[in-house]
Amino acid sequence: MAGIIRFNELTQQLVVYATDRANRPMQKEESRTPKTDDLPVRDVRCPFCPGNEGQIPEILYETSDKNGEWRTRAVLNKYPALTYEKQIEDYKTGIYTSVTACGRNEVIIESPIHNIDITQMPQEHVEQIIETYVKRYKFIYENYKEIQNIIIFRNHGADSGTSLVHPHSQIAGIAFTPKYITDKETAAKNHYEKQNHCLICDMVEYEMQENERMVYQNKAFYCFVPFAAEVPFEIWIAPKAHEGEFLNLGDKDQIELADALKTSLTRLTIRINDPDYNYVIYSGSRGEKTRGHLHWYLRIRPRTEKTAGFEIGTGVHINPNLPESDAKILRGEASILPDR
Ligand SMILES: [Zn+2]
Ligand SMILES: [Zn+2]
Repeated sequence: MAGIIRFNELTQQLVVYATDRANRPMQKEESRTPKTDDLPVRDVRCPFCPGNEGQIPEILYETSDKNGEWRTRAVLNKYPALTYEKQIEDYKTGIYTSVTACGRNEVIIESPIHNIDITQMPQEHVEQIIETYVKRYKFIYENYKEIQNIIIFRNHGADSGTSLVHPHSQIAGIAFTPKYITDKETAAKNHYEKQNHCLICDMVEYEMQENERMVYQNKAFYCFVPFAAEVPFEIWIAPKAHEGEFLNLGDKDQIELADALKTSLTRLTIRINDPDYNYVIYSGSRGEKTRGHLHWYLRIRPRTEKTAGFEIGTGVHINPNLPESDAKILRGEASILPDR
């Protein structure tokens, strides 16, 4: 059954209703805290483990190691938030509006090993995860013209909202543009029109000069705690060179991104004691004619803080940590414990 999106007239926000997801298997009792060491290498009940291929939809893409054993796989999400519908319809219910929830939701299984994390994988394995991201992103972008936005995301740990512990990411193509994304792209466009520069290029350039909030950098990527980080230890990974589209990430830069991602996550794991987190790759929406203002980036958002009444009431976040101090801790120049 097609899902439905309802529009809140007052907040101008969209809500997806995907009631089939209530049936999805949950393994929440096996929280990632205290993490992978407590889990088996293979779990007979896990649909992503080798030998349980009967429990997953058709394999859409696969990478393998030197011996021909699979390393990463892409499959359709069995319990998608959004499904692809040829017919997109609007519905009116009195003063309210709903629309068909159209999109495409794939799962990227990151490894055949049930209890491994990105931080424990060899570098070339992380490169294959990035390669899989790029290949699936391109496929969806080129084959589903109705899809306006594609995000890639990863949920790590019980507090991140993940339902299965086997290492995996998701890619969601959506046939509409959420207000959150429109607002960010409008802000970037306004900056570009005034300054004639891309906002994220300007941010990266300023951060590189200041070097106060830097977490890590390599040839192609700069990893930093943003100036107005919403939560403690938030990290953004942005390409140093201007690029609006994640799908243009070439082979060499895929290696650099794997290094930047693995290093940033390792710093979180070691220095902040492996917090639960979500990360999201944001790339430009389809159809923007002048794309000078769009610059893709990856945002890691740790889940160490619970959203409370003030945040819900105002939409304004309260962050108990200053980004500059967080960056120092992530670089290993200060300890998470206050100095005595
Ligand atoms: Zn598994
Ligand atoms: Zn830029």
